Amino acid sequence: MNAEIVAIGTELLLGQNVDTNSSWIARQLALLGVDVYAFQQVGDNEKRMEEALKLACGRSQVVITTGGLGPTVDDLTRKVAAKVGQKTLVYYEHIVKEMEARFFRSGRPFPKSNLNQAFIPQTATIVSNPVGTAPGFILKVGKSHLICLPGVPREMKAMFEATVKPFLKGLEPATGIIKSRVYRTTGISESRLNEVIADIFESSTNPTIGVLAHPEGVDVRLTAKTATEEEADKLIDELGKILITRLPNTIYGLNEEELESIVGQMLTTRHMTLATAESCTGGLISSRITKVPGSSNYFLRGYVVYSNEGKSDMLKVDPKLIEKKGAVSAEVCKALAENARTQSGASVALSTTGVAGPSGGSAEKPVGLVYIGLSDESSTQTFKFLFTGEREVVQMKASQAALELLRRHCLGLPLGD
Ligand code: ATP
Ligand code: MG
Repeated sequence: MNAEIVAIGTELLLGQNVDTNSSWIARQLALLGVDVYAFQQVGDNEKRMEEALKLACGRSQVVITTGGLGPTVDDLTRKVAAKVGQKTLVYYEHIVKEMEARFFRSGRPFPKSNLNQAFIPQTATIVSNPVGTAPGFILKVGKSHLICLPGVPREMKAMFEATVKPFLKGLEPATGIIKSRVYRTTGISESRLNEVIADIFESSTNPTIGVLAHPEGVDVRLTAKTATEEEADKLIDELGKILITRLPNTIYGLNEEELESIVGQMLTTRHMTLATAESCTGGLISSRITKVPGSSNYFLRGYVVYSNEGKSDMLKVDPKLIEKKGAVSAEVCKALAENARTQSGASVALSTTGVAGPSGGSAEKPVGLVYIGLSDESSTQTFKFLFTGEREVVQMKASQAALELLRRHCLGLPLGD
């Protein structure tokens, strides 16, 4: 069974909204063993939407659309779907009753424009919306099943789970599933990682291996195509074990796991506490740390010391040292980490100071130069990095490198080369 996803909305074409619906649906379809052959994005334009849906229904057995089911005049999906399926729109009184009840419960008046949402193409199956007003529907168009869902991700997901998934499962017994697992690495370049796994990369066909680099590090994705989820897990486990031996200590997490959560768990189980002294990362590390629920158990203080005065006033870095060595120096970085730790009473402290760019670089201290310090009861060490990329990328890379130092410190791994 093959499928196609059509994301509807002019804001997508204007680049104002990112089409996350399609990728989410594609992941769900992969798990159901449905092959996705195409994505389309189309604006709220009747003619072009009609062309897109005709094309999709002419070539794909399942077509899923999102968006354009709202009550306003630019919400055209109902009308166009009916046209493509050569059906008339039928008014359903019970949809109105449900919408009225929902508005009544929330204490808001019922806008007349919402009546538009009670029109559904004749013969279509209604997909009820447990979390919003607009229902969706499933319409047979030739050999194809056209499934229309709202654009709001929360509503679309709830309806997919409750109705679309069982519907697709019932269409044809699954011949197999596709499952992926991502191994997340940091501190190793994409090219180096490729070298290390080149042979398994080439020889492995199931699971296949994909590599994706981003500022936080390089992700390795293993994707298995099998009859059952258990078989997929088994194949992925086997190749995963090889991957782990090839990349010792560089894999910090799986799938969506973030380094700040991993480090948070480590600090918690070890009863450690943390403070940060940030210059070039401007609070990014503390922001990432505090995104994790429960971080109040281990995160004591985050000093953002962007100016030289800030470094001296808040963290007692000797102004003479700053003058002599410069704010971006191993010496100042060391003082920041050390003083943040002693002043806060934390068991470990991280510090950053660097040139995030785009200006402010020199031959001696180029853009991307960042010192990161880690201080604990026994010593304070600093590390020099030269990151590439735009300002935000340099900051993200610096925050990731700092958290990775902390992870390594918690595990007792060597911090430097
Ligand atoms: P509404 O009743 O809210 O009008 P709708 O079905 O008409 O629902 P749209 O108007 O197309 O949906 O989109 C509503 C909101 O849903 C958009 O403002 C956007 O925030 C989000 N959205 C729409 N399409 C997508 C998409 N493809 N990916 C992610 N978000 C989307
Ligand atoms: Mg809308």
